[in-house]
Amino acid sequence: MSPLHDLKTLFPGKVSFEEKDLLFHAGDLWPRKLIIQRLGQKLILPKAIVRPESVEDIQALLTWAHQKKVGVIPYGGGSGVCGGTQVLGESVSLDLRKMNHIRELNDDSSYVTAEAGILGPDLENALNQKGFTLNHFPASFHISTLGGWISTRASGQLSTGFGSIEDLLLALKVVLPNGHVLETKLTPRSSTGPSLNHLFLGSEGTLGVIVEASLKMYRLPPEREFLSFSFQTISEALLAIRTLVQKNIFPAVIRLYDEVDTQMALSEIGLKASGNLLVLLFQGEQEIVEAQKNIAQKIFSHKGKALGEKPAQHWWEHRFDLNEKKVTQILSQEGMILDTLEVATTWNHLETLYAEMKKMIESEIIVLAHFSHFYLTGGSIYFTFVGSTEEQEALTKYDTVWDKAMEACLKVGGTISHHHGIGLLRKKWIQRELQEGWAILSQLKKGIDPYNILNPKKLL
Ligand SMILES: Cc1cc2nc3c(=O)[nH]c(=O)nc-3n(C[C@H](O)[C@H](O)[C@H](O)COP(=O)(O)OP(=O)(O)OC[C@H]3O[C@@H](n4cnc5c(N)ncnc54)[C@H](O)[C@@H]3O)c2cc1C
Repeated sequence: MSPLHDLKTLFPGKVSFEEKDLLFHAGDLWPRKLIIQRLGQKLILPKAIVRPESVEDIQALLTWAHQKKVGVIPYGGGSGVCGGTQVLGESVSLDLRKMNHIRELNDDSSYVTAEAGILGPDLENALNQKGFTLNHFPASFHISTLGGWISTRASGQLSTGFGSIEDLLLALKVVLPNGHVLETKLTPRSSTGPSLNHLFLGSEGTLGVIVEASLKMYRLPPEREFLSFSFQTISEALLAIRTLVQKNIFPAVIRLYDEVDTQMALSEIGLKASGNLLVLLFQGEQEIVEAQKNIAQKIFSHKGKALGEKPAQHWWEHRFDLNEKKVTQILSQEGMILDTLEVATTWNHLETLYAEMKKMIESEIIVLAHFSHFYLTGGSIYFTFVGSTEEQEALTKYDTVWDKAMEACLKVGGTISHHHGIGLLRKKWIQRELQEGWAILSQLKKGIDPYNILNPKKLL
Protein backbone atom coordinates (compact mmCIF):
# COMPACT_ATOMS: atom_id res chain seq x y z
CA MET A 1 0.00 0.00 0.00
CA SER A 2 1.27 3.51 -0.82
CA PRO A 3 2.72 5.32 2.23
CA LEU A 4 0.33 8.17 1.39
CA HIS A 5 -2.59 6.21 2.80
CA ASP A 6 -1.11 6.77 6.29
CA LEU A 7 -1.88 10.45 5.89
CA LYS A 8 -5.64 9.94 6.18
CA THR A 9 -5.16 8.22 9.51
CA LEU A 10 -2.55 10.65 10.76
CA PHE A 11 -4.46 13.81 9.78
CA PRO A 12 -8.18 13.04 9.70
CA GLY A 13 -10.14 15.81 7.96
CA LYS A 14 -6.94 17.69 7.10
CA VAL A 15 -5.86 15.88 3.92
CA SER A 16 -7.10 16.22 0.36
CA PHE A 17 -6.45 14.01 -2.68
CA GLU A 18 -8.97 15.88 -4.85
CA GLU A 19 -7.89 16.67 -8.39
CA LYS A 20 -8.73 20.40 -8.19
CA ASP A 21 -6.73 20.79 -4.95
CA LEU A 22 -3.78 18.90 -6.40
CA LEU A 23 -3.83 21.08 -9.52
CA PHE A 24 -4.00 24.31 -7.48
CA HIS A 25 -0.98 23.20 -5.45
CA ALA A 26 1.07 22.03 -8.46
CA GLY A 27 2.90 25.35 -8.45
CA ASP A 28 2.58 29.10 -8.14
CA LEU A 29 2.08 32.01 -10.53
CA TRP A 30 5.39 31.62 -12.35
CA PRO A 31 4.56 32.87 -15.88
CA ARG A 32 6.58 30.00 -17.43
CA LYS A 33 4.27 27.54 -15.67
CA LEU A 34 1.24 29.41 -17.00
CA ILE A 35 2.67 29.20 -20.54
CA ILE A 36 3.35 25.47 -20.07
CA GLN A 37 -0.28 24.96 -19.01
CA ARG A 38 -1.48 26.98 -22.01
CA LEU A 39 0.56 24.73 -24.28
CA GLY A 40 -1.32 21.76 -22.84
CA GLN A 41 1.78 20.22 -21.23
CA LYS A 42 1.14 18.25 -18.04
CA LEU A 43 2.30 19.46 -14.64
CA ILE A 44 3.51 17.09 -11.93
CA LEU A 45 0.87 17.10 -9.20
CA PRO A 46 1.54 16.70 -5.49
CA LYS A 47 0.44 13.34 -4.10
CA ALA A 48 -1.69 14.96 -1.39
CA ILE A 49 -2.45 18.28 0.28
CA VAL A 50 -2.08 18.45 4.06
CA ARG A 51 -3.66 21.42 5.85
CA PRO A 52 -2.17 21.54 9.36
CA GLU A 53 -3.87 23.37 12.20
CA SER A 54 -1.06 23.20 14.77
CA VAL A 55 2.69 22.95 15.21
CA GLU A 56 2.13 19.32 16.31
CA ASP A 57 0.48 18.51 12.95
CA ILE A 58 3.55 19.81 11.12
CA GLN A 59 5.92 17.93 13.41
CA ALA A 60 3.97 14.73 12.76
CA LEU A 61 4.02 15.30 8.98
CA LEU A 62 7.76 15.97 8.86
CA THR A 63 8.50 12.92 11.02
CA TRP A 64 6.36 10.80 8.69
CA ALA A 65 8.03 12.32 5.58
CA HIS A 66 11.45 11.59 7.09
CA GLN A 67 10.55 7.94 7.61
CA LYS A 68 8.92 7.49 4.19
CA LYS A 69 11.39 9.69 2.27
CA VAL A 70 8.62 11.78 0.71
CA GLY A 71 9.20 15.47 -0.09
CA VAL A 72 7.18 18.21 1.64
CA ILE A 73 6.61 21.56 -0.07
CA PRO A 74 5.50 24.40 2.23
CA TYR A 75 2.74 26.38 0.52
CA GLY A 76 1.61 29.87 1.59
CA GLY A 77 -0.57 31.89 -0.77
CA GLY A 78 0.95 30.35 -3.91
CA SER A 79 1.60 33.88 -5.23
CA GLY A 80 5.29 33.26 -5.90
CA VAL A 81 6.43 34.06 -9.42
CA CYS A 82 9.55 31.87 -9.65
CA GLY A 83 8.24 28.31 -9.28
CA GLY A 84 9.17 28.00 -5.58
CA THR A 85 6.23 25.69 -4.87
CA GLN A 86 6.33 23.79 -8.16
CA VAL A 87 6.23 20.04 -7.70
CA LEU A 88 9.19 18.08 -9.10
CA GLY A 89 8.93 14.56 -7.68
CA GLU A 90 6.94 12.52 -5.17
CA SER A 91 5.85 15.27 -2.76
CA VAL A 92 3.12 16.38 -0.43
CA SER A 93 2.02 20.02 -0.43
CA LEU A 94 1.81 21.55 3.06
CA ASP A 95 -0.80 24.30 2.85
CA LEU A 96 -0.36 26.62 5.83
CA ARG A 97 -3.37 28.87 5.38
CA LYS A 98 -5.34 27.37 8.27
CA MET A 99 -2.59 28.53 10.61
CA ASN A 100 -3.71 32.13 10.41
CA HIS A 101 -4.25 33.40 13.96
CA ILE A 102 -2.84 36.50 15.58
CA ARG A 103 -1.13 35.49 18.83
CA GLU A 104 -0.21 38.85 20.33
CA LEU A 105 -0.47 42.49 19.44
CA ASN A 106 1.74 44.48 21.79
CA ASP A 107 1.23 48.22 21.46
CA ASP A 108 3.76 49.16 24.16
CA SER A 109 6.55 47.38 22.34
CA SER A 110 5.15 47.86 18.80
CA TYR A 111 5.16 44.26 17.66
CA VAL A 112 2.69 41.69 16.43
CA THR A 113 3.06 37.91 16.60
CA ALA A 114 1.02 35.86 14.14
CA GLU A 115 0.87 32.41 12.60
CA ALA A 116 2.63 32.12 9.27
CA GLY A 117 -0.38 31.23 7.11
CA ILE A 118 -2.15 34.55 7.71
CA LEU A 119 -2.88 36.53 4.52
CA GLY A 120 -1.81 40.17 4.16
CA PRO A 121 -5.27 41.82 4.52
CA ASP A 122 -6.19 39.76 7.61
CA LEU A 123 -3.03 40.82 9.39
CA GLU A 124 -3.14 44.45 8.26
CA ASN A 125 -6.86 44.89 9.10
CA ALA A 126 -6.33 43.54 12.61
CA LEU A 127 -3.50 46.04 13.09
CA ASN A 128 -5.50 48.94 11.62
CA GLN A 129 -8.28 48.31 14.13
CA LYS A 130 -5.78 49.00 16.91
CA GLY A 131 -4.30 52.06 15.16
CA PHE A 132 -1.26 50.30 13.65
CA THR A 133 0.05 49.24 10.26
CA LEU A 134 2.85 46.97 9.01
CA ASN A 135 3.73 49.36 6.18
CA HIS A 136 4.44 46.19 4.20
CA PHE A 137 2.48 46.07 0.95
CA PRO A 138 3.80 43.79 -1.77
CA ALA A 139 1.59 44.16 -4.87
CA SER A 140 0.42 40.59 -4.13
CA PHE A 141 -0.52 41.59 -0.55
CA HIS A 142 -4.09 40.20 -0.79
CA ILE A 143 -2.98 36.70 -1.87
CA SER A 144 0.34 36.21 -0.06
CA THR A 145 1.11 35.08 3.49
CA LEU A 146 3.40 36.11 6.32
CA GLY A 147 5.38 32.85 5.95
CA GLY A 148 5.69 33.38 2.19
CA TRP A 149 6.99 36.94 2.66
CA ILE A 150 9.72 35.75 5.02
CA SER A 151 10.61 32.72 2.90
CA THR A 152 11.09 34.84 -0.23
CA ARG A 153 12.52 38.00 1.42
CA ALA A 154 9.60 40.01 0.05
CA SER A 155 9.63 43.76 -0.35
CA GLY A 156 6.57 46.03 -0.33
CA GLN A 157 5.62 49.25 -2.06
CA LEU A 158 6.62 51.39 0.95
CA SER A 159 10.06 49.81 1.32
CA THR A 160 11.95 53.05 0.64
CA GLY A 161 10.43 54.52 3.81
CA PHE A 162 10.00 51.48 6.02
CA GLY A 163 12.26 48.72 4.71
CA SER A 164 11.47 45.22 3.49
CA ILE A 165 10.40 42.10 5.41
CA GLU A 166 13.90 41.54 6.87
CA ASP A 167 13.70 45.00 8.48
CA LEU A 168 10.37 44.15 10.12
CA LEU A 169 11.18 40.65 11.33
CA LEU A 170 11.99 40.28 15.04
CA ALA A 171 11.53 36.59 15.85
CA LEU A 172 10.52 33.26 14.33
CA LYS A 173 9.14 29.88 15.24
CA VAL A 174 10.21 27.17 12.79
CA VAL A 175 9.60 23.41 12.59
CA LEU A 176 12.84 21.82 11.40
CA PRO A 177 12.94 18.81 9.05
CA ASN A 178 13.66 16.49 12.02
CA GLY A 179 10.46 17.69 13.71
CA HIS A 180 12.22 19.82 16.36
CA VAL A 181 10.96 23.35 16.98
CA LEU A 182 13.35 26.29 16.81
CA GLU A 183 12.25 29.58 18.40
CA THR A 184 14.35 32.71 18.10
CA LYS A 185 14.19 35.26 20.89
CA LEU A 186 11.89 38.28 20.60
CA THR A 187 14.18 41.23 21.21
CA PRO A 188 14.77 44.60 19.47
CA ARG A 189 18.31 43.52 18.58
CA SER A 190 20.84 40.94 19.66
CA SER A 191 24.52 40.11 19.17
CA THR A 192 24.24 36.49 20.26
CA GLY A 193 26.07 35.01 17.29
CA PRO A 194 24.89 34.98 13.64
CA SER A 195 21.22 35.82 13.16
CA LEU A 196 19.08 32.68 12.90
CA ASN A 197 16.21 34.84 11.64
CA HIS A 198 18.34 35.58 8.61
CA LEU A 199 18.99 31.90 8.00
CA PHE A 200 15.29 31.42 7.28
CA LEU A 201 14.71 34.74 5.49
CA GLY A 202 14.83 33.80 1.80
CA SER A 203 15.20 30.06 2.49
CA GLU A 204 12.16 29.31 0.27
CA GLY A 205 10.88 26.38 2.27
CA THR A 206 14.13 24.38 2.10
CA LEU A 207 15.39 24.63 5.70
CA GLY A 208 12.28 24.62 7.89
CA VAL A 209 8.58 25.36 8.01
CA ILE A 210 7.95 28.82 9.42
CA VAL A 211 4.93 28.56 11.71
CA GLU A 212 4.94 31.86 13.55
CA ALA A 213 6.69 35.22 13.33
CA SER A 214 6.88 38.50 15.22
CA LEU A 215 7.12 41.70 13.21
CA LYS A 216 7.52 45.38 14.03
CA MET A 217 4.41 47.46 13.53
CA TYR A 218 4.00 51.23 13.09
CA ARG A 219 1.35 53.71 14.22
CA LEU A 220 -1.05 54.59 11.39
CA PRO A 221 0.22 57.79 9.77
CA PRO A 222 -1.80 60.96 10.52
CA GLU A 223 -0.78 62.48 7.17
CA ARG A 224 -0.23 61.29 3.57
CA GLU A 225 0.92 63.67 0.84
CA PHE A 226 1.79 63.16 -2.82
CA LEU A 227 4.09 64.80 -5.37
CA SER A 228 4.83 64.04 -9.03
CA PHE A 229 7.45 65.26 -11.51
CA SER A 230 8.53 64.54 -15.03
CA PHE A 231 12.21 64.34 -16.02
CA GLN A 232 13.71 64.50 -19.50
CA THR A 233 16.24 61.81 -18.73
CA ILE A 234 16.64 58.88 -16.35
CA SER A 235 20.08 60.25 -15.44
CA GLU A 236 18.70 63.54 -14.17
CA ALA A 237 15.96 61.83 -12.22
CA LEU A 238 18.30 59.31 -10.59
CA LEU A 239 20.73 62.06 -9.60
CA ALA A 240 17.89 64.00 -7.94
CA ILE A 241 16.70 60.89 -6.06
CA ARG A 242 20.24 60.10 -4.92
CA THR A 243 20.65 63.69 -3.70
CA LEU A 244 17.45 63.35 -1.65
CA VAL A 245 18.17 59.99 -0.01
CA GLN A 246 21.78 60.93 0.68
CA LYS A 247 20.38 63.81 2.74
CA ASN A 248 18.81 60.97 4.72
CA ILE A 249 15.29 61.81 3.53
CA PHE A 250 13.33 58.67 2.69
CA PRO A 251 9.75 59.27 1.53
CA ALA A 252 7.52 56.20 1.97
CA VAL A 253 7.49 55.78 -1.82
CA ILE A 254 9.79 56.88 -4.63
CA ARG A 255 8.92 55.40 -8.03
CA LEU A 256 10.59 56.48 -11.25
CA TYR A 257 9.13 55.20 -14.54
CA ASP A 258 11.17 55.14 -17.73
CA GLU A 259 9.70 56.66 -20.89
CA VAL A 260 7.86 53.54 -22.06
CA ASP A 261 6.46 52.81 -18.61
CA THR A 262 5.54 56.51 -18.20
CA GLN A 263 3.46 56.43 -21.35
CA MET A 264 1.53 53.48 -19.93
CA ALA A 265 1.14 55.05 -16.47
CA LEU A 266 0.04 58.47 -17.73
CA SER A 267 -2.17 57.40 -20.60
CA GLU A 268 -4.26 55.46 -18.09
CA ILE A 269 -5.23 58.74 -16.37
CA GLY A 270 -5.56 60.88 -19.47
CA LEU A 271 -2.51 63.01 -18.66
CA LYS A 272 -0.27 64.11 -21.49
CA ALA A 273 3.37 64.19 -20.52
CA SER A 274 6.64 63.14 -21.95
CA GLY A 275 9.79 61.96 -20.28
CA ASN A 276 10.20 59.92 -17.15
CA LEU A 277 7.54 60.11 -14.45
CA LEU A 278 8.49 60.30 -10.77
CA VAL A 279 5.86 59.72 -8.07
CA LEU A 280 6.41 60.32 -4.37
CA LEU A 281 4.45 59.57 -1.23
CA PHE A 282 5.31 61.13 2.13
CA GLN A 283 3.62 59.86 5.29
CA GLY A 284 3.91 60.47 9.01
CA GLU A 285 3.59 63.46 11.34
CA GLN A 286 2.41 66.56 9.49
CA GLU A 287 5.44 68.76 10.35
CA ILE A 288 7.86 66.10 9.20
CA VAL A 289 5.90 65.41 6.01
CA GLU A 290 5.86 69.14 5.20
CA ALA A 291 9.58 69.50 5.80
CA GLN A 292 10.40 66.43 3.67
CA LYS A 293 8.13 67.63 0.88
CA ASN A 294 9.70 71.09 0.83
CA ILE A 295 13.21 69.72 0.56
CA ALA A 296 12.14 67.20 -2.11
CA GLN A 297 10.38 69.92 -4.08
CA LYS A 298 13.52 72.04 -4.13
CA ILE A 299 15.68 69.14 -5.31
CA PHE A 300 13.27 67.76 -7.91
CA SER A 301 12.25 71.18 -9.34
CA HIS A 302 15.83 71.84 -10.39
CA LYS A 303 15.62 69.56 -13.45
CA GLY A 304 12.12 68.11 -13.15
CA LYS A 305 8.76 69.53 -14.24
CA ALA A 306 6.23 69.59 -11.39
CA LEU A 307 3.04 67.65 -12.22
CA GLY A 308 1.19 68.15 -8.93
CA GLU A 309 -0.38 65.45 -6.83
CA LYS A 310 -2.56 63.71 -9.40
CA PRO A 311 -0.25 61.12 -10.99
CA ALA A 312 1.13 60.05 -7.59
CA GLN A 313 -2.33 59.90 -6.03
CA HIS A 314 -3.59 57.92 -9.00
CA TRP A 315 -0.77 55.43 -8.55
CA TRP A 316 -1.72 55.08 -4.86
CA GLU A 317 -5.37 54.44 -5.67
CA HIS A 318 -4.58 51.90 -8.39
CA ARG A 319 -1.52 50.28 -6.89
CA PHE A 320 -3.02 46.79 -6.74
CA ASP A 321 -4.66 46.90 -10.19
CA LEU A 322 -2.06 44.89 -12.09
CA ASN A 323 -2.90 41.72 -10.20
CA GLU A 324 -2.66 37.99 -10.75
CA LYS A 325 -6.03 37.91 -12.55
CA LYS A 326 -4.82 40.36 -15.21
CA VAL A 327 -1.49 38.56 -15.59
CA THR A 328 -3.22 35.18 -15.91
CA GLN A 329 -5.70 36.62 -18.43
CA ILE A 330 -2.93 38.11 -20.61
CA LEU A 331 -0.96 34.87 -20.48
CA SER A 332 -3.98 32.82 -21.49
CA GLN A 333 -3.78 34.35 -24.99
CA GLU A 334 -2.02 32.31 -27.65
CA GLY A 335 1.59 33.33 -28.23
CA MET A 336 1.68 35.83 -25.34
CA ILE A 337 4.76 36.24 -23.17
CA LEU A 338 4.86 38.42 -20.06
CA ASP A 339 7.06 38.49 -16.99
CA THR A 340 8.74 40.86 -14.57
CA LEU A 341 12.34 40.90 -13.51
CA GLU A 342 13.66 42.81 -10.49
CA VAL A 343 17.34 43.45 -9.88
CA ALA A 344 19.37 45.87 -7.78
CA THR A 345 22.76 47.48 -7.50
CA THR A 346 24.65 50.38 -5.97
CA TRP A 347 24.30 53.95 -7.25
CA ASN A 348 27.58 53.80 -9.19
CA HIS A 349 26.24 50.96 -11.40
CA LEU A 350 22.50 51.64 -11.41
CA GLU A 351 22.25 53.47 -14.72
CA THR A 352 24.60 51.05 -16.48
CA LEU A 353 22.58 48.11 -15.16
CA TYR A 354 19.40 49.70 -16.50
CA ALA A 355 20.93 50.48 -19.91
CA GLU A 356 22.60 47.08 -20.37
CA MET A 357 19.62 44.99 -19.32
CA LYS A 358 17.20 47.11 -21.32
CA LYS A 359 19.41 46.73 -24.41
CA MET A 360 19.51 42.95 -24.08
CA ILE A 361 15.79 42.51 -23.36
CA GLU A 362 14.62 44.86 -26.10
CA SER A 363 16.68 42.96 -28.66
CA GLU A 364 14.02 40.25 -28.16
CA ILE A 365 10.78 41.85 -26.95
CA ILE A 366 9.10 45.06 -25.69
CA VAL A 367 10.44 46.16 -22.31
CA LEU A 368 9.38 48.80 -19.80
CA ALA A 369 10.96 49.59 -16.46
CA HIS A 370 10.61 51.46 -13.22
CA PHE A 371 12.88 52.05 -10.25
CA SER A 372 10.88 51.52 -7.07
CA HIS A 373 12.94 50.62 -3.99
CA PHE A 374 15.66 53.12 -3.04
CA TYR A 375 18.44 53.00 -0.46
CA LEU A 376 21.24 55.24 0.77
CA THR A 377 23.50 53.00 -1.30
CA GLY A 378 21.49 52.30 -4.46
CA GLY A 379 18.21 51.05 -5.83
CA SER A 380 16.30 48.35 -7.64
CA ILE A 381 15.01 48.19 -11.21
CA TYR A 382 11.79 46.39 -12.13
CA PHE A 383 11.59 45.41 -15.80
CA THR A 384 8.39 44.16 -17.42
CA PHE A 385 8.72 42.37 -20.74
CA VAL A 386 5.71 41.66 -22.89
CA GLY A 387 4.95 40.58 -26.44
CA SER A 388 3.73 37.77 -28.60
CA THR A 389 5.33 35.18 -30.81
CA GLU A 390 4.42 31.92 -32.55
CA GLU A 391 2.78 29.76 -29.89
CA GLN A 392 5.31 26.93 -30.36
CA GLU A 393 8.16 29.42 -29.91
CA ALA A 394 6.79 30.94 -26.70
CA LEU A 395 8.88 28.97 -24.20
CA THR A 396 12.10 29.33 -26.18
CA LYS A 397 11.53 33.07 -26.51
CA TYR A 398 10.72 33.38 -22.80
CA ASP A 399 13.91 31.50 -21.83
CA THR A 400 16.05 33.54 -24.23
CA VAL A 401 14.87 36.83 -22.71
CA TRP A 402 15.68 35.60 -19.19
CA ASP A 403 19.08 34.26 -20.28
CA LYS A 404 20.09 37.53 -21.91
CA ALA A 405 18.78 39.65 -19.02
CA MET A 406 20.47 37.62 -16.29
CA GLU A 407 23.78 37.50 -18.16
CA ALA A 408 23.71 41.29 -18.50
CA CYS A 409 22.86 41.68 -14.82
CA LEU A 410 25.72 39.47 -13.65
CA LYS A 411 28.14 41.18 -16.02
CA VAL A 412 27.37 44.62 -14.57
CA GLY A 413 27.50 43.26 -11.01
CA GLY A 414 23.83 43.52 -10.02
CA THR A 415 22.02 41.04 -7.81
CA ILE A 416 19.85 38.70 -9.88
CA SER A 417 16.84 39.17 -7.58
CA HIS A 418 15.79 42.13 -5.48
CA HIS A 419 12.63 40.56 -4.02
CA HIS A 420 10.99 37.73 -5.99
CA GLY A 421 13.59 35.15 -5.00
CA ILE A 422 15.06 32.16 -6.81
CA GLY A 423 12.57 29.27 -7.11
CA LEU A 424 13.23 27.17 -10.20
CA LEU A 425 13.51 30.22 -12.40
CA ARG A 426 16.87 31.54 -11.22
CA LYS A 427 18.55 28.32 -10.02
CA LYS A 428 20.74 28.41 -13.09
CA TRP A 429 22.48 31.64 -11.98
CA ILE A 430 22.51 31.49 -8.19
CA GLN A 431 25.92 29.84 -7.86
CA ARG A 432 27.51 32.53 -9.99
CA GLU A 433 26.12 35.19 -7.69
CA LEU A 434 26.82 33.49 -4.35
CA GLN A 435 30.20 31.91 -5.26
CA GLU A 436 31.72 30.38 -2.08
CA GLY A 437 28.49 31.25 -0.24
CA TRP A 438 26.78 28.57 -2.28
CA ALA A 439 29.00 25.85 -0.78
CA ILE A 440 28.24 27.13 2.74
CA LEU A 441 24.49 27.11 2.12
CA SER A 442 24.65 23.62 0.58
CA GLN A 443 26.46 22.32 3.67
CA LEU A 444 23.86 23.94 5.91
CA LYS A 445 21.08 22.24 3.95
CA LYS A 446 22.81 18.86 4.31
CA GLY A 447 23.23 19.38 8.05
CA ILE A 448 19.68 20.54 8.72
CA ASP A 449 17.85 18.33 6.21
CA PRO A 450 20.07 15.28 5.53
CA TYR A 451 17.31 13.34 3.73
CA ASN A 452 16.35 16.35 1.59
CA ILE A 453 12.72 16.29 2.69
CA LEU A 454 11.89 19.99 2.51
CA ASN A 455 11.15 21.47 -0.90
CA PRO A 456 13.66 19.15 -2.63
CA LYS A 457 15.63 20.23 -5.73
CA LYS A 458 14.75 23.89 -5.22
CA LEU A 459 16.88 26.73 -3.84
CA LEU A 460 19.20 24.33 -1.92
C1 LIG B 1 0.64 40.10 -9.03
C2 LIG B 1 1.83 39.81 -8.15
C3 LIG B 1 2.51 40.87 -7.55
C4 LIG B 1 3.61 40.61 -6.73
N1 LIG B 1 4.22 41.68 -6.10
C5 LIG B 1 5.24 41.46 -5.25
C6 LIG B 1 5.85 42.56 -4.55
O1 LIG B 1 5.45 43.71 -4.67
N2 LIG B 1 6.88 42.27 -3.71
C7 LIG B 1 7.33 41.00 -3.53
O2 LIG B 1 8.27 40.81 -2.74
N3 LIG B 1 6.78 39.96 -4.18
C8 LIG B 1 5.74 40.14 -5.02
N4 LIG B 1 5.16 39.08 -5.67
C9 LIG B 1 5.70 37.72 -5.47
C10 LIG B 1 5.05 36.93 -4.30
O3 LIG B 1 3.79 37.42 -4.00
C11 LIG B 1 5.96 36.96 -3.07
O4 LIG B 1 7.11 36.21 -3.36
C12 LIG B 1 5.31 36.44 -1.78
O5 LIG B 1 6.20 36.71 -0.72
C13 LIG B 1 5.01 34.96 -1.80
O6 LIG B 1 4.20 34.65 -0.67
P1 LIG B 1 3.21 33.40 -0.67
O7 LIG B 1 2.61 33.31 0.66
O8 LIG B 1 2.28 33.47 -1.81
O9 LIG B 1 4.27 32.22 -0.86
P2 LIG B 1 4.22 30.94 -1.82
O10 LIG B 1 4.18 31.38 -3.25
O11 LIG B 1 3.20 29.99 -1.35
O12 LIG B 1 5.67 30.33 -1.50
C14 LIG B 1 6.84 31.00 -1.84
C15 LIG B 1 8.05 30.21 -1.32
O13 LIG B 1 8.06 30.26 0.10
C16 LIG B 1 7.94 28.94 0.67
N5 LIG B 1 7.04 29.08 1.83
C17 LIG B 1 5.80 29.62 1.85
N6 LIG B 1 5.32 29.63 3.12
C18 LIG B 1 6.28 29.07 3.90
C19 LIG B 1 6.39 28.79 5.30
N7 LIG B 1 5.41 29.10 6.16
N8 LIG B 1 7.53 28.19 5.75
C20 LIG B 1 8.53 27.88 4.91
N9 LIG B 1 8.47 28.12 3.58
C21 LIG B 1 7.37 28.72 3.08
C22 LIG B 1 7.41 28.06 -0.44
O14 LIG B 1 7.83 26.72 -0.30
C23 LIG B 1 8.01 28.73 -1.67
O15 LIG B 1 9.32 28.29 -1.87
C24 LIG B 1 4.06 39.28 -6.52
C25 LIG B 1 3.37 38.22 -7.12
C26 LIG B 1 2.27 38.48 -7.92
C27 LIG B 1 1.54 37.33 -8.54
